[in-house]
Amino acid sequence: MSLAAATAFLRDHIAPNAHAIDTSVEAMGVAFIEMRKQGLMALKRPAEYGGPAISEADFRTYQEEVARASGSFAFLQTQHQSAVNMIAKQASEEIKAEYLPQMHGPKTVGIGFSQLRRTGDPICKAVETDGGYILNGEVPWITGLGFFDEYLIGSVLPDGRAVFGFMPFANVEGQTVSEPTRLAAMETCQTVTASLTNYHLHKGTVAFINDKDWMRKNDAFNIVIQGHFAVGCALAGADIVQEVANKKGFDFLHQTATKLYAEIEECRAALVAHQKDFAEDTAPLRLQKRAWAIDLMMRCAHAGVVASSGAANYHTHPAQRVLREAIVFSVSAQTGPIMEATLRRLVR
Ligand SMILES: Cc1cc2nc3c(=O)[nH]c(=O)nc-3n(C[C@H](O)[C@H](O)[C@H](O)COP(=O)(O)OP(=O)(O)OC[C@H]3O[C@@H](n4cnc5c(N)ncnc54)[C@H](O)[C@@H]3O)c2cc1C
Repeated sequence: MSLAAATAFLRDHIAPNAHAIDTSVEAMGVAFIEMRKQGLMALKRPAEYGGPAISEADFRTYQEEVARASGSFAFLQTQHQSAVNMIAKQASEEIKAEYLPQMHGPKTVGIGFSQLRRTGDPICKAVETDGGYILNGEVPWITGLGFFDEYLIGSVLPDGRAVFGFMPFANVEGQTVSEPTRLAAMETCQTVTASLTNYHLHKGTVAFINDKDWMRKNDAFNIVIQGHFAVGCALAGADIVQEVANKKGFDFLHQTATKLYAEIEECRAALVAHQKDFAEDTAPLRLQKRAWAIDLMMRCAHAGVVASSGAANYHTHPAQRVLREAIVFSVSAQTGPIMEATLRRLVR
């Protein structure tokens, strides 16, 4: 699967249906099945498990293009792609052999570990027993109910390490999954919470155990990488301005689109320049780039609304959809330092 083929799929199947995908779970389901057929579900899966093992640079470009085509679709599929990457990097050979070959389908896996970012007493705890672990607490965010069969949970052990395991994405003994949460954006991704009461995680379903500081290190590693969704959403906003400019022909609309595209390119280059930079001492600089991407995304989405005038308010208009998607991309994978960097930029 080449990047060109993947972006052709987004252009032909996803972008034209973005409104339907945003408003209908059925339309999202059709898009998701089509993605499976196209072999796009596990883009970074290593070659020895079936590939296509696309490069880091291509993967980030794909993230941008999928967010540009449909924020909701981007958000749903990235949960599974993240699970693929985590399993490939961290799981035992046994788990890799069981899961990875099937992760272009039929196996679908979401993720539920943002609770590990929270400070203070862990809200989801694990205690070791003979046959595995007993889990108790809350998982505040899990996207993909009805699309994913399982999700990868992160739960904190008494010594601060986190056990990751495969959970059924359903109501089962010891786990209650909420109804899909009503959200301002990306509702068709079917995001839920889960409540655990003495859930028994069998040792055969443990994926890996990470050290105490893993979440902080992983977030520090991901500072700019996650910014590519914001770049894609910014492009969607700029595309709307460009489209209106083409229709109405005013110079200032063309000039606005040109300036936005130029800044997006500059911001994108700044993210790419730091793609392989994970040094702790460059974190402040990388946080500034992430904050730039978030700020720029919001400005582009707002420009799409302004350029579209009153029509932007129509339920079916892409400008309001892109603005709502920008809300989610402003806070997804947010950490304290990212929140701070974003807010500092907004009041600068
Ligand atoms: C629509 C949607 C779907 C999502 N789906 C998923 C999913 O499928 N899987 C998943 O794992 N996550 C998912 N998330 C979670 C997402 O990544 C989180 O939004 C993100 O981790 C921020 O967490 P939070 O919103 O719960 O905020 P919080 O955890 O309350 O806060 C965000 C950050 O600020 C820090 N912070 C908060 N208060 C303080 C304080 N007083 N002092 C210092 N620092 C503080 C926290 O430690 C944390 O790092 C989803 C989010 C959304 C909006």
